[in-house]
Amino acid sequence: MHLYSRQILLEGWDLEAQEKLKLSNVLIVGCGGIGCALAELLARAGVGKISLIDADSIEVSNLQRQMAFGPADIGFYKADILAKRLTQINPHIQVHSIVAKLDKTNADCLIASQDLVLDGCDNFTTRYLVNQICQQHGVPLISASAIGFQGQLFMVEGDSACYECLFPKEEQQNESLRCADSGVLATTPNVMASLQAHHALLYLGLNLRPLKQKLLLWNGLNMTQRILNFMHDENCASCQAR
Ligand SMILES: [Zn+2]
Repeated sequence: MHLYSRQILLEGWDLEAQEKLKLSNVLIVGCGGIGCALAELLARAGVGKISLIDADSIEVSNLQRQMAFGPADIGFYKADILAKRLTQINPHIQVHSIVAKLDKTNADCLIASQDLVLDGCDNFTTRYLVNQICQQHGVPLISASAIGFQGQLFMVEGDSACYECLFPKEEQQNESLRCADSGVLATTPNVMASLQAHHALLYLGLNLRPLKQKLLLWNGLNMTQRILNFMHDENCASCQAR
């Protein structure tokens, strides 16, 4: 009660909402700039079970923006170090780290039982796969990305159009648009992760879906955001397979 008292004091956020968070299972895909801040906020807020998946180990160029890591962590697996940090921050939650790439062999098993999947990965292949498997199992997805000074955030849930409706696969094969190869300001992924975590809490605690089938675009150079509606694509393979 003490730990979460500032939340429970909120108008509209009662013990029941806090209890819902405690009972929630979420999967965070990617433990980079987005995953680090996202996971930490959800752990502090009291999300009961957090699974983290990432195959990468920590490199010196990650430290500029990936807030769970310091110089002593270089060479260790991101998922393991982040999980350890979450457990230190909030010992009352369950944290599970998976050092692997999310792919066709493990995606069904990892995603099917989740209440919510949060994508913060750094490549299109994984992003399409997460979207497709969430669609197949009817698991809600909140997805964030950040590059340069800009970020995107959207939610796919229930009957909503999906990531592949929004960005048809054939138009989106440019894998060079990743932080690994392009620049990113330290703050950009952290802004997007905070918005993503905020949306996750709204959904898990209060059943709100403000970005369902909507794309939020954040422009970090002029500090504006736009929210666009997007539609079902009749040719979307992921929606047809649902
Ligand atoms: Zn679709």
